Amino acid sequence: MIDVVVTGAAGKVGREVVKAIGQTSDMRVVAAVDPGQAGMPVDDGKGGEIQCVADLGVSIAETNPAVMVDFTHPSAVEGNLRAALAAGVDCVVGTTGLSEGSLRALVSDAPDGTCLFMAPNFAIGAVLMMRFAAQAARYMPHVEILELHHDQKADAPSGTALLTAEIIANARQTVPSAPGRETELAEGARGALVDNVTVHSVRLPGLVAHQEVLFGGQGQTLSIRHDSIDRTSFTPGVLMAVEAVGARSGLVIGLDALMEG
Ligand code: NAP
Repeated sequence: MIDVVVTGAAGKVGREVVKAIGQTSDMRVVAAVDPGQAGMPVDDGKGGEIQCVADLGVSIAETNPAVMVDFTHPSAVEGNLRAALAAGVDCVVGTTGLSEGSLRALVSDAPDGTCLFMAPNFAIGAVLMMRFAAQAARYMPHVEILELHHDQKADAPSGTALLTAEIIANARQTVPSAPGRETELAEGARGALVDNVTVHSVRLPGLVAHQEVLFGGQGQTLSIRHDSIDRTSFTPGVLMAVEAVGARSGLVIGLDALMEG
């Protein structure tokens, strides 16, 4: 049995994680932490409820979890990671906004053997979208990324878009210019440049998490699109990571690292 503390347990993704863990036979949620929602019940996935609590440090001391899963906020994740890693708790992080350098520094202070796993996107379809984009970029180097998220998202571009741009930059052999930037009539019309890949961020109510990677070539285009229609799309990847971190150590980034082939 893997004992898990979930931070951000009352949030949109956190509550799906609590439910999904409760529906497994080899993991259990020992604490649901969400300081702003202490006392709030969340579905435990077994037909009952678990009450949110406020203090992560107390929860770790009282329940001695093996793993912390964090879906909180860019302003909260670093403090949560410090508390968990210092106690030798392996971490599975979905919260975006921390740089790879910050993650590396955090895990370097943890006891030997502790693992910090971070995935900018836990949806398996999104990982495949990035793989296919890397393949396409070798042959079609002209590419732009359109990422679309709900209007509460705290960061832009999304962590998935940043990672996709990096993967494309590593895969393509030529770097075409991104034309039109110098003739923009409205600032930002041509999007942001990430690793020389143009990224456009859309924020609208009604959306969950979506991304289209749009390639252009002579007389043709290729679109690779992934849509997370609801937040249960992230939970199989989170469960896969919770299973995996016990056998790993140090910083591991991306669900791709846990998927074979
Ligand atoms: P959300 O609905 O706002 O949930 C975040 C929850 O965390 C809220 O209940 C919030 O409480 C709580 N919280 C804030 N500070 C906390 C702390 N110190 N300890 C514990 N809980 C705390 O956000 P969401 O949509 O679930 O997304 C959460 C994060 O995951 C975001 O960074 C998002 O970009 C990311 N995300 C990643 C993936 C992925 O696949 N990697 C997928 C979806 C989302 P208050 O409301 O009181 O502040």
